[in-house]
Amino acid sequence: MRVPQGRSGVVAEDRRRELRVTSTSRHTHPVNPPHAQRARGAAAANDPFPGVEKVRDGLWSVPVPLPNNSLRYVLVYVFETDRGPYLMDAGWNTDDAFGALSGGLEEIGTNVADVQGVMVTHIHPDHYGLAGRIREASGAWISLHPADAELIHDRYDEPDDLLERVAAALRRMGAPEEELTPLQNAAMPVRPLVDPVLPDVLLEDGAKPEVPGWDLTAIWTPGHSPGHLCFYESTHDLMLSGDHVLPRITPNIPYHPQAGANPLGDYLESLDKLEPYEVEEVLPAHEYRFDDLRTRLEELRRHHRERFAEVVAILKDGPHDAWDIAAHMKWSRPWDDIEGFMRRAAVGEAASHLRALEIDGVIKVDDGEPALWSLVEPRGS
Ligand SMILES: [Zn+2]
Ligand SMILES: [Zn+2]
Repeated sequence: MRVPQGRSGVVAEDRRRELRVTSTSRHTHPVNPPHAQRARGAAAANDPFPGVEKVRDGLWSVPVPLPNNSLRYVLVYVFETDRGPYLMDAGWNTDDAFGALSGGLEEIGTNVADVQGVMVTHIHPDHYGLAGRIREASGAWISLHPADAELIHDRYDEPDDLLERVAAALRRMGAPEEELTPLQNAAMPVRPLVDPVLPDVLLEDGAKPEVPGWDLTAIWTPGHSPGHLCFYESTHDLMLSGDHVLPRITPNIPYHPQAGANPLGDYLESLDKLEPYEVEEVLPAHEYRFDDLRTRLEELRRHHRERFAEVVAILKDGPHDAWDIAAHMKWSRPWDDIEGFMRRAAVGEAASHLRALEIDGVIKVDDGEPALWSLVEPRGS
């Protein structure tokens, strides 16, 4: 489904003329090898901060910095065309991010004012925050999946109602009273990093965004966010995986008022959805490119199978609320050191496993504040 592009169609004419003058340096860079070979297994913080890299002829990776965030950068992919560049994802709405993106585009011989379209994989601030500013500078269209486009108003324009629902969900999960307010507001600091603009183009599953000379197909992969999109580029067998599949970290799949009824169930189905693709290289939005998609899909499934087993083991000694279960699960650091937004993400992640197990009939819930989870058939007794 397409929403009329509005001004972008008009702007395209002017840009085409300018682009002939600016031209590009696409033939002067060798194609960079994926980071995978040099960085897999290392700690993210020790990885070299990547530069602008040539992925294929006419396709570039531009790292855009994320302030105060352990992911450090989002990778914006730039597709060159005879009309001008098209971007996959954008970055946070900060001057630094805009400067890095503009500089990266100049390095490859083009300009932010020439951008024709911004395909946003999902609505999280590090991907979508800067899209409005790019549109303002260029007249480019912005695309999103309708399920994420739908959340913009609720999440960014009038979040009070959403905050109430977050608080109710936290009480149901068993958050201690003194943690309620800080956790309820844990995502608020990133609000200024988002320009809550509406998309010009909605891409459903299977849609082909107009990027001349490239054959991109949107693949709806809900889970990490309800409207998450991956994109398959068939002429080079590339999978642009957004946050759905990252080479080293597992994306957060929280149970959240905006996440739908069974986000982890959705996510696992979305992993299966990528299985049939013969992919030469995976282009994720964070970390580094890698080549073995199917192995990574299986690692991610195994991770969640282990998490399910962990939750079931915790419930063997009787009913628990989600908070308690999260506190007993293994995390990359001790539970007491997990604070703020990370803490809320951890409890949300525990809750999404509980919800998926409930739907599978393995566990049941006694609703209330807090809701208590227990095994359907106590095992080992
Ligand atoms: Zn994300
Ligand atoms: Zn992200």
